[in-house]
Amino acid sequence: MESGTAGTGTETNGGPVAAAPVTPETIEVLNPATGQPIETIAVDSPQSVAKTVARVRANQADWEAMGIEGRYHWLGKLRDWLLDNSDRVLDTMQLETGKVRADAANEPTYLADLINFYGTRAAGFIGEESVRPHSPLLASKKLRIQYRPHPVVGIISPWNFPLVLSLGDAIPALQAGAAVVIKPSEFTPLGLIEVVEAWKHEIGGPDVLDCVQGTGETGGALVDAVDYVQFTGSDRTGRKVMARAAETLTPVSLELGGKDPMIVLADADLDRAANAAAWGGMFNSGQVCISVERIYVEEPAYDEFVAKLQAEVRKLRQGADDARDPKDVGAMTSPNQTAIVEDQVADALASGARALTGGKRAEGPGDYFEPTILVDVDHSMKVMRDETFGPVVGVMKARDAEEALRLANDSRYGLSGSVFGEKEHAEQIARRIECGAVNVNDVLVNYFASDVPMGGWKESGIGYRHGEPGIKKFCRSESLVITRFAGKREPTWYPYTRGRRGLIGRLSQAVNARDLKRRLGLRR
Ligand code: NAD
Repeated sequence: MESGTAGTGTETNGGPVAAAPVTPETIEVLNPATGQPIETIAVDSPQSVAKTVARVRANQADWEAMGIEGRYHWLGKLRDWLLDNSDRVLDTMQLETGKVRADAANEPTYLADLINFYGTRAAGFIGEESVRPHSPLLASKKLRIQYRPHPVVGIISPWNFPLVLSLGDAIPALQAGAAVVIKPSEFTPLGLIEVVEAWKHEIGGPDVLDCVQGTGETGGALVDAVDYVQFTGSDRTGRKVMARAAETLTPVSLELGGKDPMIVLADADLDRAANAAAWGGMFNSGQVCISVERIYVEEPAYDEFVAKLQAEVRKLRQGADDARDPKDVGAMTSPNQTAIVEDQVADALASGARALTGGKRAEGPGDYFEPTILVDVDHSMKVMRDETFGPVVGVMKARDAEEALRLANDSRYGLSGSVFGEKEHAEQIARRIECGAVNVNDVLVNYFASDVPMGGWKESGIGYRHGEPGIKKFCRSESLVITRFAGKREPTWYPYTRGRRGLIGRLSQAVNARDLKRRLGLRR
């Protein structure tokens, strides 16, 4: 890699933060569970990014020509490699993220499932479509739609799920026939590098997948060089990416932050709801875009629910785990994020909230925030308005289901949410939440239902991943209007004789009018 001038730092959700651990030419990747350096990697300059994109671009046409089955053949080899080498990849990812093993474990298997999902369904989603003309005037035409990929897709990804949020988009893009260049987060590049190296050297895959390293400047250079941008990260950075892509009219898909509400109705199974809230709020130390961050409980169930949630969260074991001593809650992956969480909790406590558990950083070594339940919160507090992205939930009492719904919808975000209650009652409420996906009597599970789209409403994003839109977005449609039979000229072409002048208008009127008089042109 060439060395270049890296950005002065990065930004994460919530506001300006300290610089990432980089010099202009290198990034030092740290283990958040210990604070110790793991590895130093070289930063890609804008020139190096452009060179990488040009190289994979040169190979894209052959990749596209392989067809859906040919590409699935290669992606199937990646699936097998991920399954065979998951321990190796998980070790690396655990080191760079500080996740507990159980939180890391689902990344390779999610990707394997996604490869099979798109490999077996791509023909239905992006295969050629035959369309029947809507009008008899087009009877001589054969109509077809073919889906051709954006040649090079650039993926910019965050640090919370280093493989799921990079390769998870690369898989449908590659299956669609695009070449892909990924810029992972500067905090967590190592697991991805391992997989991309394996694609090149162990699997021997076609040279249509690569990654480039660096902070915001490298990300910006990638936006300039590619034909489609898939961004996952904070809404703050998402706006910058979209503005930069606008300069070259490059289409974007943005998967941004969330402030997901959970509604607990009085008729819910409160044990299940409390266990779900504990896991949905603390999984991956709350560093999940679809974490449970706000909980609204109908008044009659409030005290019992809070007591159960508190009992469950108190049991959680936090720290660096190993096979002999598994833990439940791991480290904060980005040190910047811990400062944001700390600030939001301090703001809430200063405004009258109470912490039933946690409420502060855990003692070192490593970067940990204690699993925290806040009560006596309201929507004037940052912790109920801004994305927290840490192991913190705020719980509010709601007079009734309507008030819970109003509070749930009172957010600039709209990524996903959940409702717990009697099945039909909960489903009715779920249908009225303003967000891209709602789980009924479960949390986070929509991410694994790749059959249905997932994407943000409001300031949570633009576009969808998963389902048909998750692969179609990487394609451009090309409509083919093919003449099946024809004479030397069409009636609408030259010369405009007196007879032909009004012919097409009269024919069109005859076809489009819905009553006999108009069909015959007897009423003007
Ligand atoms: P971030 O926005 O700080 O960074 C995301 C990526 O953008 C990183 O690779 C970063 O280097 C790069 N970047 C920074 N500045 C850039 C610029 N000017 N141009 C181009 N690229 C730039 O986000 P983060 O802190 O890494 O991740 C946390 C955020 O991601 C949270 O807001 C979270 O909700 C969101 N997220 C969303 C989803 C989703 O699917 N909606 C999933 C996971 C995380």
